[in-house]
Amino acid sequence: MRWSRYFIPTLKEDPAEAEVVSHRLLLRAGMVRRLTSGIYTYLPAGWRSLLKISEIIRREMTRYHAVELLMPAVQPGDLWKETGRWEAYGKELLRFRDRHDRDYCIGPTHEEVITDLVRREISSYRQLPLNLYQIQTKFRDEIRPRFGLMRGREFIMKDAYSFDRDEAGAAQSYEWMHKAYVSIFEKLGLRFRAVEADTGAIGGSLSHEFMVLADTGEDVIATCSQCDFAANLEKAEVECQGPDCPECSLPPEQVFTPGMHTVSQVAGYLNVPQRKVLKTLLYDADGRSVAALVRGDRELNEVKLKNVLGAQSLELASKEQVEKWTGAGLGFAGPVGLRVDRMVADLELRLETDWITGANVEDAHLMHVDLKRDSRINGYHDLRSITREDPCPRCAGTIRMTKGIEVGHIFRLGTKYSRSMHALFLDEQGVEQPMIMGCYGIGVSRVLAACIEQNHDDHGIIFTPAVAPFETVIIALNPRDELVQKNARDIYSRLIAHGVDVLLDDRDERPGFKFKDCDLVGFPLQIVVGARGIKNKVVEVKERHSGQRHELPLEDFWTGFQKVRQRVREHFGLTSG
Ligand code: ATP
Ligand code: MG
Repeated sequence: MRWSRYFIPTLKEDPAEAEVVSHRLLLRAGMVRRLTSGIYTYLPAGWRSLLKISEIIRREMTRYHAVELLMPAVQPGDLWKETGRWEAYGKELLRFRDRHDRDYCIGPTHEEVITDLVRREISSYRQLPLNLYQIQTKFRDEIRPRFGLMRGREFIMKDAYSFDRDEAGAAQSYEWMHKAYVSIFEKLGLRFRAVEADTGAIGGSLSHEFMVLADTGEDVIATCSQCDFAANLEKAEVECQGPDCPECSLPPEQVFTPGMHTVSQVAGYLNVPQRKVLKTLLYDADGRSVAALVRGDRELNEVKLKNVLGAQSLELASKEQVEKWTGAGLGFAGPVGLRVDRMVADLELRLETDWITGANVEDAHLMHVDLKRDSRINGYHDLRSITREDPCPRCAGTIRMTKGIEVGHIFRLGTKYSRSMHALFLDEQGVEQPMIMGCYGIGVSRVLAACIEQNHDDHGIIFTPAVAPFETVIIALNPRDELVQKNARDIYSRLIAHGVDVLLDDRDERPGFKFKDCDLVGFPLQIVVGARGIKNKVVEVKERHSGQRHELPLEDFWTGFQKVRQRVREHFGLTSG
């Protein structure tokens, strides 16, 4: 490919719309353009990278026994009504009607469609197991589409669905997908980690997320420095054991705390540590009022709370709700005398007493509160997020925190969909059984963004050779110089003959301009062909990631080039071609 005939509209300036580095660089490197909120056109270079990612995914999926198909983007609402998700999925599901007034949606995911297909086609244990996947455009009307390809509304996903006859088979399918994912992210040259993930209200199932490690990641991962424990902060369970504390010896006492709304204000005003002040957080869970209590120095984990409540939706109570439920303004809620539908407390609150809480009275708090004696707690649960001070829940080792971007998610579904949609088969005894399912997603377009979040510098993207739109660029420095042209074209032809993925920058532009563009787009290898070098019978090869330059003799260019190429591949943990 010649750059002069190609289309990479790079930008000199940072676009104002971009908040994160991958978004900024995808726009500046001419890889994507925004059409409207959360919806992008993949320009040729961006699309080329996406195709490469897809090809690696395809190869590994095939290796682990998954078979590709392509399902429609438009799905009938009736299928979603069968599983109850027409209502439950919420506003992310883009619903519409056709000319006959029938309900449809644009698929945010394909459990319903695949289960419908399989229930029609599969009837016997002999036809199982089966794992079907597709690479396809999804639509989710995200509440806050942002960060470019990281959280789009329209995006590309690889989604696979496995069907097995028993738990052992389902466990095997899951393990294969786990292996396939490890292999995929290794072959993409990304630094990543598989972590235990939240399974939501379904419960009982198993789930892992694949996180690309990057400081800019939205997800926090808790890992152990001694064992291989790694979990999404949302999920990481907190170890909490010990006997219940004896009753508090002092009765509750109301104290005046004028204008003290936050834990730190109250603790400061009363001159006590923050850990003695309880946070009483009020929520609207599926329309019911809920109070959740954690120590003042802890963070409530909303995912854990949602699971404990078995709630579909969980939202912090509005100012009006707080006033109605507590009889006071924001910041004075407390468990004593609070009239809510349900009140839950974190496990560690059983281990101590003599708390300071809001008094449900404006400008007042209660001291010496004993939760058991003074309030009606409905249950104690693991409700807070793990911290560096907590022991590892597996081995009591030290917990570390890292940031990551979720690029993949694998999930044991069990019979959730096969039961509600009657995807049944006859087992060896001729008895009807629901198929046991798993689902496995990779955010293909998010992988491209994550790769950039992980690998970039002030000059632009530093692509891994596996993801780069072209692995190599040849920069012809003086394209009007016949000799330079000829040598650049020769090298180009030789590399093409060897199967190297190469772009020839034959644009009639100044060298500085071209160097900047090539660094911006982030081609891993840059071959510089200039008049002076040709005279000395050498060309220069630059490694994008290290900036290191190698002068290679023209005569034995291919051997030298292979060595540099290998160095670059090794840097990204890529071994063979
Ligand atoms: P998130 O928590 O980020 O919203 P999710 O749990 O909704 O993700 P899944 O339903 O498991 O995501 O989808 C599978 C994969 O699709 C995710 O691991 C992620 O990589 C990708 N993905 C999900 N939502 C988006 C989005 N809005 N834009 C781009 N990729 C997405
Ligand atoms: Mg989501």
